[in-house]
Amino acid sequence: MNIILLGPPGAGKGTQAQRLQNDVGMVQLSTGDMLRAEMKSGSALGEQAKGIVASGKLVPDALMVGLIENRIAQPDCAKGFILDGFPRTEAQAKALDTMLDKTGKKLDQVIEMVVDEAALTERVVGRFTCAKCGAGYHDRFKRPKVDGVCDVCGSTDFTRRPDDNAETMKTRMAAYRAQTEPLLPYYRAKGVLKKVDGMAEMDEVYRQIRTVLAEA
Ligand code: AMP
Repeated sequence: MNIILLGPPGAGKGTQAQRLQNDVGMVQLSTGDMLRAEMKSGSALGEQAKGIVASGKLVPDALMVGLIENRIAQPDCAKGFILDGFPRTEAQAKALDTMLDKTGKKLDQVIEMVVDEAALTERVVGRFTCAKCGAGYHDRFKRPKVDGVCDVCGSTDFTRRPDDNAETMKTRMAAYRAQTEPLLPYYRAKGVLKKVDGMAEMDEVYRQIRTVLAEA
């Protein structure tokens, strides 16, 4: 099964995609993570994306489509994938349709994570991840069981995204509203759009996603 998790920054797409990947073996395709890996490696693409990501604006469609097209062609994606952070524009959505058609794949569902915009900045600004295994945490909502120690791998090294700050969030939200939100009617018209309550407690959001997936 191939799905998209759709929602603004801080909606919980990454958290839920990671959990689905662990439980059901679908592959999480996070374009944000891919870009961060490119930036860390200092590749030409990473260098091109750096300033744009830091500003909270969107990276050009052609770059993003190229990244996803290569990734979807990898053999592990045959198990099914969860798009997390892609598509973010109508041009990306159309390019995705074309690449799926070309490769004989199908988009089964688009799951909208419905959230209250007022809560998003606090969610985003408080989050951090284990630098070693990537497990996600939050200053207020999900602290490690032992302060300063990753629950999953025991590392004491954590990182925060430089773009997870209140100022950049304003630009990221504006980009979401102007460029990504129009994808909701696009997918509704295709009959693949489902909704879950992204404001519910994490386990409950996950339960709703599993229920929706079972209906596909
Ligand atoms: P994310 O981790 O999904 O919040 O993405 C972090 C940043 O990477 C975004 O604010 C954009 O600058 C960039 N980015 C990620 N995915 C895309 C995409 N599909 N299209 C354009 N820019 C993207």
